[in-house]
Amino acid sequence: MRTDLAVIGAGPAGIAAALAAARRGIRVALVDAAQGPGGQYFRQPAPGLRAEGAAPRHGRRTWARLRDALAASTVDVRPEHHVWCVERESGGLTVHALLGPEQRESVELRADAVLLATGGYETVLPFPGWTLPGVVTAGGAQAMLKGHLVTPGHTVVVAGTGPLLLPVATGLAAAGVRVAALVESTDPARLPRHARALAGKLPEAAGYAARLLRHRVPVLTRHTVVRAHGEGRLTGVTVAALDARGRVRPGTERLLPCDALAVGDGMLPHTDLAQTLGCRLDGHAVAVDAEQRTDVPGVWAAGEATGIGGAALALAEGHIAGRSIADRLRGTTPDADAWLPAARARARGRTAAAALHALHSPPAHRGDGVPDDTVICRCEEVTAGAVREALTLGAGDTRTVKLLTRAGMGWCQGRMCAPGVAAVTGCPPAPARRPFARPVPLGVLAAQYDRTAPPDDRPRPEEGPS
Ligand SMILES: Cc1cc2nc3c(=O)[nH]c(=O)nc-3n(C[C@H](O)[C@H](O)[C@H](O)COP(=O)(O)OP(=O)(O)OC[C@H]3O[C@@H](n4cnc5c(N)ncnc54)[C@H](O)[C@@H]3O)c2cc1C
Repeated sequence: MRTDLAVIGAGPAGIAAALAAARRGIRVALVDAAQGPGGQYFRQPAPGLRAEGAAPRHGRRTWARLRDALAASTVDVRPEHHVWCVERESGGLTVHALLGPEQRESVELRADAVLLATGGYETVLPFPGWTLPGVVTAGGAQAMLKGHLVTPGHTVVVAGTGPLLLPVATGLAAAGVRVAALVESTDPARLPRHARALAGKLPEAAGYAARLLRHRVPVLTRHTVVRAHGEGRLTGVTVAALDARGRVRPGTERLLPCDALAVGDGMLPHTDLAQTLGCRLDGHAVAVDAEQRTDVPGVWAAGEATGIGGAALALAEGHIAGRSIADRLRGTTPDADAWLPAARARARGRTAAAALHALHSPPAHRGDGVPDDTVICRCEEVTAGAVREALTLGAGDTRTVKLLTRAGMGWCQGRMCAPGVAAVTGCPPAPARRPFARPVPLGVLAAQYDRTAPPDDRPRPEEGPS
């Protein structure tokens, strides 16, 4: 199939871009791995639940507007398309996607332009017991609640750092869960330094504070979870206060009984597809110019793939990208004044995001206190002790630690354990290079080989692919 623009990711950024481009006469395909559009922020209950409107959702009015606009538009919405690779070929770009829940069949979509709007994923720093059943990520708890209308437990501790903890704690409390505590490692004394940049976020923060009060959720700031307890199932967590350097203050430990822990230490952008295409990164995010263009011709990026900053920023970036793409595909130079309101919203969003990152950086010495027998890489069952041993063998970066220990070589390809390895070793975290954004069946890869190899190189029937 051929289209003008393929948008990968149907979250706020992808939807805003698709609508902006389609309104200007561009043929748009909007593909997403999920069962329907919305992304993380506007995640809808699974279609089988027939519960539209039942889940707690932020921005209901914005979602209703986007949903209706999408339904009335020419955008070709393609759910359950798991994009594993985007290739540049003569005459455009080819998007490869595995179909449906089975993900065994791959389709190709050819486009003149691609927008990467793949969002971000959560990071969790390890602690003893973090692999116990009952311990979920904060975003995972939110996804269970919004997408499946279930909660991870009856009594939940929400912990870690970052603004995502607020909707998770208040959402769970509103759903009838007893939230035993909201444990935030950030020191509130740092807030005044960022007050100006965060002024626009105050009404939202006040709303969350009111809901926490209404549901009587105890809030522990400058605290962290040091251990999760249980035999085969979580029964409680020990939390402790942190000193100014992020180290646990001895004697401050206390036990909080609970049957679930929702924990998150911030988010990282999804950059796999961008890296395969050769797009330049700026730190952990895809680097873009004022039009949201990457440095690879024909490839734009918007939303949390270009830096974690929330739904409003994603909407603004998506809108700008969609307009830029429409103009560029028609061969005209965009007039940035035409999207001035979105550019202003983007500037505000980026300023607030930078302040939130500075405020919520996880404690610097958090990895020091992780005992040697704690599993860091759960796919390959590599402990903190083994990771530290790699340092004594000469490893000076996370990639060498991976080669020496296998930490990061399993199913998740380091998405879960890389921040933990960085925290325990003190090595700077580096974005991983992954040739495929998803696990791909060998049969699908073999079919690609059959398609692209010159006839003489193709295996004869009795040989099979090499
Ligand atoms: C688990 C989770 C829960 C969150 N919950 C909240 C919340 O409750 N409140 C809040 O304020 N913020 C929440 N956030 C933050 C939220 O992600 C952003 O504020 C906002 O949704 C970002 O918009 P986006 O369009 O950049 O990305 P997203 O909304 O994350 O959308 C990205 C989309 O890309 C799709 N995608 C990614 N990779 C591929 C691929 N290879 N192939 C096909 N599709 C792909 C995903 O399925 C997703 O639908 C959450 C984040 C996460 C990770």
